[in-house]
Amino acid sequence: MTNPLLAEWTAPHALPPFDAISDAHFGPAFDAAEAEGRAAIAAIAEATEPPTFANTIEALERADKLLDRVAGVFYNIAGSDSNPEREALMRDLAPRMSAYASEITNNAALFARIQTLWDARDDLDLSAEQARVLMLYHRSFVRSGAALEGAARDRLTEVKSRLATLGTTFTQNLLADERSWFMPLSEDDLEGLPDFVVASARAAGEEKEAGGPIVTLSRSLITPFLQFSPRRDLRAKAFAAWIARGANGGDTDNRAICAEILALRAERAKLLGYANFADYKLETEMARTPDAVRGLLMQVWEPAKSAANEDAQILEAMLHKDCYEGPLEPWDWRYYAAIRRKAEHDLDEAELKPYLQLDRMIEASFACANRLFGLEFAPLDVPLYHPDARAWEVTRNGAPVAIFIGDYFARGSKRSGAWCSAMRSQSKLDGAVTPIVVNVCNFAKSEPALLSYDDARTLFHEFGHALHQMLSNVTYGLISGTSVARDFVELPSQLYEHWLEVPEVLEEFATHADTGAPMPRDLLDRLLGAATYDMGFSTVEYVASALVDLAFHEAADAPADPMQKQAEVLEAIGMPRAIPMRHATPHFAHVFAGDGYSAGYYSYMWSEVMDADAFDAFGEAGGPFDPEIAAKLEEFILSAGGSEEADVLYTKFRGRMPRVEALLKGRGLLTA
Ligand SMILES: [Zn+2]
Repeated sequence: MTNPLLAEWTAPHALPPFDAISDAHFGPAFDAAEAEGRAAIAAIAEATEPPTFANTIEALERADKLLDRVAGVFYNIAGSDSNPEREALMRDLAPRMSAYASEITNNAALFARIQTLWDARDDLDLSAEQARVLMLYHRSFVRSGAALEGAARDRLTEVKSRLATLGTTFTQNLLADERSWFMPLSEDDLEGLPDFVVASARAAGEEKEAGGPIVTLSRSLITPFLQFSPRRDLRAKAFAAWIARGANGGDTDNRAICAEILALRAERAKLLGYANFADYKLETEMARTPDAVRGLLMQVWEPAKSAANEDAQILEAMLHKDCYEGPLEPWDWRYYAAIRRKAEHDLDEAELKPYLQLDRMIEASFACANRLFGLEFAPLDVPLYHPDARAWEVTRNGAPVAIFIGDYFARGSKRSGAWCSAMRSQSKLDGAVTPIVVNVCNFAKSEPALLSYDDARTLFHEFGHALHQMLSNVTYGLISGTSVARDFVELPSQLYEHWLEVPEVLEEFATHADTGAPMPRDLLDRLLGAATYDMGFSTVEYVASALVDLAFHEAADAPADPMQKQAEVLEAIGMPRAIPMRHATPHFAHVFAGDGYSAGYYSYMWSEVMDADAFDAFGEAGGPFDPEIAAKLEEFILSAGGSEEADVLYTKFRGRMPRVEALLKGRGLLTA
């Protein structure tokens, strides 16, 4: 029997044959792909011809072709539709893939060839893209420890392998906590909840076979519950479970894991000659230094904190008016903020929600991409990995651009959050390879599927990442699509959110689920007028998390007790008591599930400085669909991948570096 993961993919668009792939295929496919990669690497390293860009760097680009293909399918499915077999394989693969990567960077003969090319780089007659790719290979080998020797090298390999395992365990613990908790709601408990929350609670109860409506820890259910439930006792109970994720004691407790991760990261940085992990991590980012990061965060923190403290007083007065004593608590904030929003802006989610149909919002995201970049989307009837996932063929002037897969609904087997990944990345080293791009969300399932405004923004956000992958136009996979500095990667996604705020987009696509009527102008005005409402809260919860992340990684010696360190940081910045961190340490997956956003959670705000400033460029020109600015956006940002440094790309697009004022204005924090 042939393994469909290893056979030629002959389906249209060379899509993976999902209907032929079973869990039993993954293990052997990884074995075969790893062996093939290992042989390819050995052939490069042991070649007798002197190194050239083609026989070394381009050969490296090709070495893991099969592994990329197998991993592209597996990790996408394992993240969005896990089961015990997939989880077991993930645990098995984490140290194995880390060891494989270390084996490559520890290959002295291979590194010697790269070093030779690097030393001779000015004489190799390389294109700009090739020079960049060579620099990135050399830098990544050095940063992985290729220049280390003996015990230091061995220890670094051990550290990296252990970190990979800990990251996987962290994620699985979190998922276990999120899955195991739910709170049954009696019919009385549903009183005061809008229909859509009741519908989601019932749907969640059915999925869990709980025999009635429930609240789960899925963000798209618990957030509206905290917002709308007049039952303070139930809010307190749900909130307590929500913030306890990863800190419930027992087998799934993440606190000791966090401490070990931080210690190992500090050790890794020291082995490589850096003072601390933040220095190491930020070297390749647009921000470059911890001081630059803190500088930006603190510029935003003070005005955000003042706004939040003013809001807290108003909300606390509302609490007291409801005959409760004592201070405003974190489980009160969303509830009273929603009432206040209704009073001040006459806007509530329940009135808005019937106008935000998932399918219409998908259409809206496609329509904007059509006007801006000429992309067209046609539904594709192909077997996928789960019945909820859907696919579209993306073309421009009839030419294939990409396959786009949208997997929107929450389910128990999906990890929380929303993300974009490429199951296959764009490249053209060996002929045009069009990408397969996946957007995964966790929207509550209902019939018809309705979104909150926040959900709709998430949809646009992930679609912005998808455009970065789909419009990528580079030769080498290494720098394809979203393979850019971490603090630059959120620019396309956060920028795309702005098109949801364009009135003509909502006018066309926000139509009522029952009547088909467009959103009334007056509701639209109130929605957009409330755009900066409660920004103190959302800025504070975010910046606090980013500052804790930075503090964790900035010290030469990692904190022995991260929870204690977290408390100290929050104390020092004067964290408002009724606002929790957006992600507290035991469930801060950005920082602990992997290395991606460690010492990097600030990136969203760094990118927001740019997205606010970049969207202003459209306003300064002919409006949100200005063709000239759209063309520049595609040329210098969306198609360019990591072909140049982020600040160079941005300056080419905008004519100058970004300024923080547009962000403060956009968040309504400039008044102070
Ligand atoms: Zn993002």
